[in-house]
Amino acid sequence: MEIRIEKTTAPKAKPDQKNLGFGHNFTDHMFVMDYTEGKGWHDARIVPFENITLSPAAMVFHYGQEMFEGLKAYRGKDGKARLFRPEMNAKRTNDTNDRLCIPRLPEEDFVEAVKAVVKVDQDWIPTEPGTSLYIRPFIIATDPFLGVAPSKTYMFIIILSPSGAYYASGLAPVGIWIEDEYVRAVKGGMGYAKTGGNYAASLAAQVKAHDDGYSQVLWLDGVERKYIEEVGAMNIFFKIDGKIVTPMLNGSILPGITRNSVITLCKNWGYEVEERKISVDELLEAQKSGKLEECFGTGTAAVISPVGKLRYKDDVMTISGGKIGELSQKIYDEITGIQGGTREDKLNWITFVE
Ligand SMILES: *Cc1c(COP(=O)(O)O)cnc(C)c1O
Repeated sequence: MEIRIEKTTAPKAKPDQKNLGFGHNFTDHMFVMDYTEGKGWHDARIVPFENITLSPAAMVFHYGQEMFEGLKAYRGKDGKARLFRPEMNAKRTNDTNDRLCIPRLPEEDFVEAVKAVVKVDQDWIPTEPGTSLYIRPFIIATDPFLGVAPSKTYMFIIILSPSGAYYASGLAPVGIWIEDEYVRAVKGGMGYAKTGGNYAASLAAQVKAHDDGYSQVLWLDGVERKYIEEVGAMNIFFKIDGKIVTPMLNGSILPGITRNSVITLCKNWGYEVEERKISVDELLEAQKSGKLEECFGTGTAAVISPVGKLRYKDDVMTISGGKIGELSQKIYDEITGIQGGTREDKLNWITFVE
C-alpha cells in the first residue's frame, strides 16, 4: 500500500501529560483511505487532523453502518514506540466488517496504516507512567442515499488521542451493576462486532447504573437474563475456588484481545482456565461460600479493572474485601510490563512502530 503524506503546517501545542484524561485531545495528523465499489480501497493518505465533510444523507447517519477498533501505542523505557498485538485488531476489523456488510480490508494494510500514522505523530506518545497514545481506527458508510442497503462507498480513518493513566493512583477496584432489565445483544445479533450500535444500545443502562453510584454495567444474556456476558467495554473474569472462569464466546460477546491475552498468560502460569456459561446464581453461591476469590474486567483502556463490588437486584457482593486481588495485580503487571518493554515479550506480542 502506498501512503501519501501531507504534513500539517500548523502543529498544535501538546497537552499537559498530567491531565490527559481519555479521548479529549487529538494529534496533528490522521490516516484516511476511501472505498468505492468497483475500485476497492484506494488513496491511502496521512493528512492534517481536520473536520470531514459528508452529505447529511450519508448512510452512516441513518442506519449506523460503521465499525471501530481501539488499540494503543506505548513509549518504552528504551524510547521505542510499541504496539500490542495489532494484527488481532486487523483480524477483528474484518470479522466486524463481514457482519456489517462493510468491505474487508487487507489485514497487513490495517497494521501498516496504524504504524505509519503513529510514526508521523510519535512525538505525541506521552511518557508519564501509565500513559499511552490511544489509536482509534474506524470505518463509516458515506453514500448519500436513504435506502436501506449496504453503502457503495466508505471511509477508513485512524485518529490518535494521547490518553492519561487509567488509574491515577494505582489499580482501583470498581463497583459493577448487573443489569437485569435491559440487554445488550443476543446470539445472531451483532454483539461480537465492534460497532457503535452496540454502545448506543447500552447507554440507558449505563445512565441508570451511574445514577446508583456504580461505574459500569455487567450484561446478562439476552434470552434468559441468567448468564454473565460482559461489562460495558470489557470482558469479565472470575477466580472461583482457584480456577479462572470467563464466559465463553457465544456470538453476543466481544472477543477482546486483552481477554485472549489473559487466558493465554493464565494457562502458561499453570492455572486452570474455563471458558463456559456462568450464571448469576453460581456467582451468588460462590460468594456465599467464600469461593469467589477475585473478579476483574479486561480491555485495552484499563488492561485490568478489578471489581470490588457487584450488585444484582437486592444483593451486593463484596469481592476480595473490596481490594485488588493478587492475580489481578499479577496479570496487570505482566501485560503493562510487556507493553512498556520492561518484561520479556516471550509470546511475540509486540510490534515496533519502526
Ligand atoms: C473493545 C471491547 C472490549 C475489549 O476488547 P479489547 O480488545 O480487550 O480492548 C470488550 N467489550 C466490548 C463491548 C468492546 O467493545
